[in-house]
This record gives sequence, structure tokens and C-alpha cells, in this order.
Amino acid sequence: EVSKFSVQELDLYYSNFQALKKINMEIQEKEITAFIGPSGCGKSTFLKTINRMNDLVEGVKVDGKIYLDGVDIYKDIDVIKLRSRVGMVFQQPNPFPMSIYDNVAYGPRIHGIKKKSVLDEIVEKSLRQAAIWDEVKDKLKKSARAVSGGQQQRICIARTLAVEPEVILMDEPTSALDPISTLKIEDLAVELKEQYTIIIVTHNMQQASRISDKTAFFLTGEVIEYGKTE
Ligand code: ADP
Ligand code: ADP
Repeated sequence: EVSKFSVQELDLYYSNFQALKKINMEIQEKEITAFIGPSGCGKSTFLKTINRMNDLVEGVKVDGKIYLDGVDIYKDIDVIKLRSRVGMVFQQPNPFPMSIYDNVAYGPRIHGIKKKSVLDEIVEKSLRQAAIWDEVKDKLKKSARAVSGGQQQRICIARTLAVEPEVILMDEPTSALDPISTLKIEDLAVELKEQYTIIIVTHNMQQASRISDKTAFFLTGEVIEYGKTE
């Protein structure tokens, strides 16, 4: 099996506080890995470390190695490129204050795509992949904040997919949602793993057992158990 991410002896310090301790993990392609553990045990920190969202912050120190497809992400990949390969979905649905269309077209436009027909195609494809196209196709020009929380979250997933990432990090993507929306996002995650590598942080043990292939249990900065979910 090919490891998408190989994490070796990873330590992370916020000034003098050690938030991650000697973490080793081989995250496989086209699997869902669930991170479980109490609040404050380092799950978000780990996500932010593997897409380099926090090492540029004052006082943060990272030790150890993280490889993406065998390439050292702290040495040999530029951060902008890494971020486009590793997309992130947050706990609170956070669409930009603009139309549904513009939210999904945002990333492709930043990457220089201007042609309307091409953008139209990407927007439709991404919204379809995020299982929200049918619900929003007649209101693409409406504000992305004028739909339900569960729909906003799927629009945010479409926004992430539109830049064609390889990995999707989801930080408690359902904890702000109702049970029906939660099930939709879970089904969606299972569909997306055909094509993507997914890491999902969750407080919900049932959710982990329903959708994940591997589970890592975090406790005070350490991974205390890691393996096949079953
Ligand atoms: P959760 O993962 O439980 O939803 P957060 O990740 O927002 O919560 O925060 C977890 C803990 O980390 C909280 O105790 C919070 O106060 C602390 N924390 C988060 N960001 C910072 C920060 N920038 N500086 C200091 N403490 C922080
Ligand atoms: P989780 O996602 O599991 O809730 P976090 O990764 O948010 O945990 O936090 C892990 C620990 O690191 C917590 O003790 C938290 O207070 C601390 N922490 C998180 N972010 C910061 C930060 N920016 N500066 C200082 N401490 C932080």
C-alpha cells in the first residue's frame, strides 16, 4: 500500500507547551482516517501541521518528518502548492459572503481560470460531487449564506473540491449540523474516498465506526491507539 502521508516522530510546540508528542502515522490513499479524542488533545493541531497552517506562526516549533507522496513537506514543497493539494473543511460552515457560484469558483479563479464556460463546468461538477447540485442549481446567484447550515457545509466541500485537492481534512464537519445533514455529509465522505484521501476529526464514536477505515485515538498530544477501525 502507498502511504499518502507518512508522519514520523512528529513533535509540535506552542512556545514551551508540547501539543504533539512523537506521532507516527501512515495515512493511506483513498481511505478515511478518523481522529477521536477529548477536546484539547491535539487533533486540530495535527491537521494544521500536515497542511502547514501553523508552523509560520510565532512560537510554533515542529520536529520530525512529514512526507506527502514521499516528499518532505517541511523542506521540499512550497506551502501554496501544498495547500492546493490538501484541502480543509471546518467545523462551522464558513462560506464566503458571496454567491454560491462565486464561492465554488473562488479557488479556480485564483488559479487563473477566467473563461466562463470552464468555470461553469467546474462549479457544476464540484457541486454535484458534493451532492448539493440539485438543491442549489436554480439559485447559484443567491448568497451562499442564505441556505441551511447543512447545505452551506456541502457548498464549502464543493469549494474545496473545485481546486482538485488530493487530500481533504475535515475538522468536526458535522458537529454544528442536525442529524439528517450529518448523515448526508457522512455518506458524502464515503463517496469521496473513492477519489480522495480523507481525514476527519470527530467526537462521535458512531460516526467513526460508520465511515472510517482507520481510527487514531488522541490523548494529551499522543496517539495512544491507531489501526483498523473494526
Ligand atoms: P475544539 O477543538 O475543542 O473545538 P479549539 O480547537 O478551538 O476547540 O480549541 C481547543 C483549545 O485550544 C481551547 O482550549 C482553546 O482555548 C485553545 N486554543 C485554540 N486556539 C488557541 C490559540 N490561538 N491560542 C491559545 N489557545 C488556543
Ligand atoms: P483538539 O483539536 O484536540 O481540541 P487542539 O489541537 O486545538 O486540540 O489543542 C491542543 C492543545 O494545544 C490544547 O491544549 C490547546 O490549548 C493548545 N493550543 C492550540 N492552539 C494553540 C495555540 N495557537 N497556541 C497555544 N496553544 C495552543
